[in-house]
Amino acid sequence: MSSSTKKFKTEVQHLLDLMIHSLYSNKDIFLRELIANAADAIDKARFISLTEKDISRDWAIKLTVDKDKKFIRVSDNGIGMTENEVIDNIGTIAKSGTKAFLKALDEKKQSEADVPELIGQFGVGFYSSFMVAEKVEILTKRAGSDESAVFWTSDGKESYKIEGAEKDGQGTDVTVFLKDDAEIYMENWKISEIIRKYSDFIAYPITLPYEKVEKEGEGAEKKSVEIRTLNSQKAIWLKKLSEISEDEHESFFSHLSHAGGKPAKAIQISAEGTSEFKALIYIPETAPFNMFMPDFQKKGLQLYVRRVFITDECKDLVPDYLRFLAGVADSSDLPLNVSRELLQDNSRIRQMQKVITRKVLSELKTMQEKEPEKYAKFFSEFGKILKEGIHMDYENKEKIKDLVMYETMNGESGKLIGLQEYVDAMPPEQKDIYYITGENRQAVENSSALEIFRSRGFDVLFMTDPIDEWVMPSMGQFAKFQFKSATKGDIELDEKSKKESEKIIAQAAKEHKKLLELIQKELDTDVKEVRFTNRLTDSACCLVGDEHAMSAHMERLFKAMKQEVPVSKRILELNPKHPLVSSMQKLFDADKADPELGKYAHLLYDQALLTEGSPVPDPLTFARNVADLMVRAAK
Ligand code: ADP
Repeated sequence: MSSSTKKFKTEVQHLLDLMIHSLYSNKDIFLRELIANAADAIDKARFISLTEKDISRDWAIKLTVDKDKKFIRVSDNGIGMTENEVIDNIGTIAKSGTKAFLKALDEKKQSEADVPELIGQFGVGFYSSFMVAEKVEILTKRAGSDESAVFWTSDGKESYKIEGAEKDGQGTDVTVFLKDDAEIYMENWKISEIIRKYSDFIAYPITLPYEKVEKEGEGAEKKSVEIRTLNSQKAIWLKKLSEISEDEHESFFSHLSHAGGKPAKAIQISAEGTSEFKALIYIPETAPFNMFMPDFQKKGLQLYVRRVFITDECKDLVPDYLRFLAGVADSSDLPLNVSRELLQDNSRIRQMQKVITRKVLSELKTMQEKEPEKYAKFFSEFGKILKEGIHMDYENKEKIKDLVMYETMNGESGKLIGLQEYVDAMPPEQKDIYYITGENRQAVENSSALEIFRSRGFDVLFMTDPIDEWVMPSMGQFAKFQFKSATKGDIELDEKSKKESEKIIAQAAKEHKKLLELIQKELDTDVKEVRFTNRLTDSACCLVGDEHAMSAHMERLFKAMKQEVPVSKRILELNPKHPLVSSMQKLFDADKADPELGKYAHLLYDQALLTEGSPVPDPLTFARNVADLMVRAAK
């Protein structure tokens, strides 16, 4: 293989430029990132060594320092890279975290001043070495491949050089030639401090030579070198929770999540019986910002079998609706030579998932009861995802219903309550749990359909996540109460009020029979029926669906997704006590054929649409009709 010089992809150049010029104060993380890469590379080699023979197994990450040449080197005997892999992995940005980092920079139009914080948050791997490096060299040989070793070097500016090379044994040496102001990274005390802080739990020994000077009688000195292991390699998940420090949690969490940030809660599981395993699971404090993007991939948990690393992403260890968890599970009863395929449909893994799910849900319940503020923060980050469980996990549905929270009509904006709290506050005459769906608080708050609930002192749950619509059909009951949409079907009142309002409605229907027929005729293409209602106290009219019809919000969601929406005509309901009704009746009595009546009918319909947050079909006609009306009123 001949030597060649290649330009970095533009996005890499951009990133490198940021790294080189970044004023990020915590430059220590470059070493954490290189060690994480080395450990990942050994994990991979270790996995294939379960089935392939020609692979060295004396796993270690070796650090060396050369004070004359001014470098620190991280060597691993992991998987290594072929030439193409070096070009793909190092010359372009393959890693989603790095992409996410650049996207965050772009999207938020971050100023250069925010870069340090983002570096801390994302890590951004190998490239962070350019915070301290003048030049970086990589010498790497792929495990189990016949290809020759590869030598890569770059000053991180525009291009890198790549050529064939000689190397003993598999793995990768990354040599970082330090800038003048980064010479501290050649000091043993500094290096060991960083390793203890960030990489103590790494499962392989991280070694560093220490020079020792020994006195040999008569003032003669002998120099010797002692290789020290800097990390304890203690599997953190086997320790007691009380023995794990905040710092350890934080660095282990960032190692697992590849994202940085902090854990909000650590959950430990020690399962016995049908499935024996230990697990340490973290609920993150904040959601990764790409969590709701379509390209977000569930990671699952790390899986170990009797302390041997098996895989980084055992997806089936957590259900989809808990995909925000990071953690590790260490099984005592899975076979060591499990293949990735086998993991996918393994009843033991499913058994583990059950135990993990139950434990996490119960810990969340405890958090909700004992640390309501922390829970509210959790729910605002991950509630949307957790809610999916009501639809997806029949077995734990009731537990999840206990955990979901909503804003309500009577509560102030931003205040969430649980279903139990809602039910506890229901007046005795209320028979159902009422909810309304819509885009946001403001949109639902103004809905005229809420008037009757307001007047009777019933509260209404505001369901303003798109996921709510989807989850609702699976809700069923809560504490024996049915869920009823505030914008669908009839509202059932207590016997006395029911009789009264039935009387008023029947009377109005009789009195305005001909007028209703006329409105109905005018709006025939848009509405299924025009009728009087007890739902309204202030507004003139509103639109409601059949008991089982799609809600207006759902229709808008479908339309936004460019999906076919089945056309469902709704019912236009009128408030029998509203003066508009009697005014229209007057017009009608004076002249049944008055063209104004048609305009009024359309205005009623348009009003109803506007108050529920739907667009009017013909804004121009709407505006003209309003203007006409104003002119008439002013005359
Ligand atoms: P990340 O490690 O988070 O994926 P990096 O930018 O640090 O991102 O590294 C990019 C890729 O380069 C890695 O995903 C891996 O494929 C490869 N790589 C980096 N360091 C090593 C190493 N020591 N051994 C083998 N491959 C490596």
